[in-house]
Amino acid sequence: MAFTRMLRCLSRSFTTVSSISPRVCIVGSGPAGFYTADKILKAHEGAQVDIIDRLPTPFGLVRSGVAPDHPETKTVTNQFSRIVQNGRCSFLGNVSLGSSISLSELRGLYDVVVLCYGAESDRALGIPGEALAGIYSAREFVWWYNGHPDCRNLAPDLKNTDTAVVVGQGNVALDVARVLLRSTSELAKTDIASHALAALEESSIRKVYVVGRRGPVQASFTAKELREILGIKNLYIHIEEADLHKTPADEEVLKNNRINRRIHELLSKAATSAAPFPTLGQRELHFVFFRKPERFSESDARPGHVAGVNFERTIIREDVGSGKQVAVGTGQFDDLECGLILKSIGYKSVCVEGLPFDPRNGIVPNIRGRVLSDSTGDLTEVEKGLYVCGWLKRGPTGIIATNLYCAEETVASISEDIKKGILPSTSDPSSKPGREGLLQLLDSKNSTVIPFEGWQKIDAEEKRRGCLKNKPREKLTSWQELFEVARK
Ligand code: NAP
Repeated sequence: MAFTRMLRCLSRSFTTVSSISPRVCIVGSGPAGFYTADKILKAHEGAQVDIIDRLPTPFGLVRSGVAPDHPETKTVTNQFSRIVQNGRCSFLGNVSLGSSISLSELRGLYDVVVLCYGAESDRALGIPGEALAGIYSAREFVWWYNGHPDCRNLAPDLKNTDTAVVVGQGNVALDVARVLLRSTSELAKTDIASHALAALEESSIRKVYVVGRRGPVQASFTAKELREILGIKNLYIHIEEADLHKTPADEEVLKNNRINRRIHELLSKAATSAAPFPTLGQRELHFVFFRKPERFSESDARPGHVAGVNFERTIIREDVGSGKQVAVGTGQFDDLECGLILKSIGYKSVCVEGLPFDPRNGIVPNIRGRVLSDSTGDLTEVEKGLYVCGWLKRGPTGIIATNLYCAEETVASISEDIKKGILPSTSDPSSKPGREGLLQLLDSKNSTVIPFEGWQKIDAEEKRRGCLKNKPREKLTSWQELFEVARK
């Protein structure tokens, strides 16, 4: 109810249509990019918006991040497709900021550049053994099963081990654990990449440990996603009941936080109702709390390959400075043998040349979406005409709808700046060439642009191939195949 009211307010605030005609380039065609485009188009009836993406396919995380067994989440692409089909908006795929075009070139061509390219890298644990084979970031694994062309050849070995450890306890951790544990006959009906389905069909993995450095009260996943994994058919679930013991500080947190309380209840119910032992061959999901990874060990039998993780047990203490509940090592260690590790400890944004960047927080320094010139100084200088939205603006947290509010804020800043005359408009003789100039420049560099019509060909072909296999789509996963189909 409150959400519907909020949406109504948001749309009301965008009925003010300005006649100024800025040329806008949005970098990144995920949810942040599309919501930004939508709001700019609605706020400025003369605006021309181009969305560029380094991939030939649009939709960012909706295509390559959302789990294949969450098709309802992907229906948002219908809304995004309608946005790009607005006569004033275009999608230009295979245009990579930093290689096809530099940031300064782009800024020279457009009045407004909004960076929405998300987080395409990973946080590191920084512990010994992290480079061993068999250790992947969850992002790579997700890209692999979602058919992202950069990870189609990842080929994680799921055959020579029966145990996987997922480090981290957010929703991405639950996604990867679920994909490893779910029956492949169910996955076969989704848009999972065929190479991943084939590997999962042959997988020997029976046990998945989802390990957190803090306790069940501090876990990052949400109740809906937890309920879903706990509900997988014929799954043995193990949670140490002692880990569910609540300290007075935990009681305080749970009293004030309905979501955490629900998670604790779900975990407690799962712990008490679980069978004492798994049946023969039954798949197992273990939630392990209060363990912080210390080092990865190398296999003797397979030199260079991971054989397990050494964890330090932790307790939770309040950090005096921040007031946050943090994990503190106890000096007690234990080992967990496994042949596959998925580090699900958060995504990280990457910087491009000429872009102010805060490496500690992995974001572009900004105030309400306006990019700040310097992340070390007093942060008051803004980069005229340069904005940011999504994970690059606020860090890698939040669901798709979070970007709606994030875009609302960034576009409000853009509109304010246009109103104040800080940015040029097409009625201004100094106006910038926009799309025409971009296409000319890319042409001069022999860059191949894939327009939205190219994506529509890919989409149709994927759906056609999917139909033959009784799945929503069979993703094209190689750059070459994507180009061939898009350019037919
Ligand atoms: P996340 O929710 O931030 O979780 C990261 C996890 O990694 C936390 O458990 C964190 O523990 C742990 N971690 C971080 N640094 C660590 C370290 N050095 N050692 C050990 N553990 C460490 O991130 P995410 O799972 O990548 O998800 C990103 C966002 O996407 C979230 O907002 C999520 O809700 C959203 N998402 C939503 C869905 C969905 O709605 N179905 C699906 C996928 C993702 P601490 O808490 O102790 O830091």
